[in-house]
Amino acid sequence: MSMLRISGGRVIDPANGIDKVCDVWIENGKVAGVGTLKGKAAETIDASGKIVCPGFVDMHVHLREPGQEWKEDIASGSRAAVAGGVTSMACMPNTQPRLDHAGVVRQVIERAREVGLCRVHPIAAVSKNLEGKELTEMRELVRAGAVAFSDDGRPIWHAGVMRKALEYASTFDFLVIQHAEELALTEGGAVNEGWISTQLGVSGIPAAGEDAMVARDIMLARLAGARYHVAHISTAGAVELVRQARRQGLQVTAEAAPHHFALTEDEVLNYNADAKMNPPLRTEADRLAVIAGLGDGTIDAIATDHAPHHEDDKRCGLSCAAFGVVGLETLLPVSLDLVRGGVLSLPELIAKMTVNPARLLGLDAGTLGPGYPADITIFDEQARWTLDREKLFSRSRNTPWHGRQMTGRVTHTLLDGRVVFADGAVVG
Ligand SMILES: [Zn+2]
Repeated sequence: MSMLRISGGRVIDPANGIDKVCDVWIENGKVAGVGTLKGKAAETIDASGKIVCPGFVDMHVHLREPGQEWKEDIASGSRAAVAGGVTSMACMPNTQPRLDHAGVVRQVIERAREVGLCRVHPIAAVSKNLEGKELTEMRELVRAGAVAFSDDGRPIWHAGVMRKALEYASTFDFLVIQHAEELALTEGGAVNEGWISTQLGVSGIPAAGEDAMVARDIMLARLAGARYHVAHISTAGAVELVRQARRQGLQVTAEAAPHHFALTEDEVLNYNADAKMNPPLRTEADRLAVIAGLGDGTIDAIATDHAPHHEDDKRCGLSCAAFGVVGLETLLPVSLDLVRGGVLSLPELIAKMTVNPARLLGLDAGTLGPGYPADITIFDEQARWTLDREKLFSRSRNTPWHGRQMTGRVTHTLLDGRVVFADGAVVG
């Protein structure tokens, strides 16, 4: 029996409570075991001094295909993913056409299989054309391979539509993911509303816009008896609402994006459009509240909201610039700051990047359990490097971290036991 052995790394597999220096064995693309195994390794990857963990699961990515391939496509997005240690990603439906019918969902899945670097799981639209009026054929979309529902990019603004979506999705135990924004308060805004938006003379997006939508949705989740998930949570108010809902036993979950726990609205003081995203970077108090939510378990998952944009969409002034930043390739080093800052242990952090999002979406991923696909990330926790936007694998360059020192780097990514990224290069 010939096997692949990843030797001598600190193996962290939160799904199975493993945190020890040992080997991981792979056979026929599956995890054969963790520890000492009888058998001969045909090939060995030396992971000594490094962390070996399940491949990261990013539940919030914009791949731009079909329709905006000059920003990103499934191939370039997959390269960026594996360079960042991500082996499963869920892609949002705001493509052109929208992921609102079965045919296009199937196309995305087929294209991702052809590329063969990273698993891609479509999140289908809740409403036709993301207009928030008429529900999509949810059951058909599930049959086509959708793993959850969202109108991300836009909120599911109509309370009646949201109620129906929650009720219907819960009949087959699927998650509805809300981009929480009360448009009546936020439309036209470019950055967080407050002292800085006033200083810049730019329209603001008040925190209350997010808080109000999350509050409404929690009422609807209670009414529908359904699971409800807040995407890219960014305000102290929303974190507290989710915390209270969970205390009451509601099935309310949330994800946070690295930029929201690493950066504040100060980043836009010099009109930097690469720090413009929606929800916007908030105040230091909001940032600390998101970190507290990650620390106490209110926030289950870390997701990038990777949102590639071409320069032309960004270099037109802060008010007109498109919302969004790329995030797949900075996910690990930025998130490791939570460990260095004492907010989370390394296994707790890895859980929020692997098994937790996998469970929310019902994916067979995020674990090194025997028999599971050998999707594995190996990283050097201490490696220091400088982020150069020109060296990103993503087709877009809109990162707020250009030129900054990063600590922590992915050295190897494996999909189905096959090395797809090693020492700075995508393989295959
Ligand atoms: Zn969103």
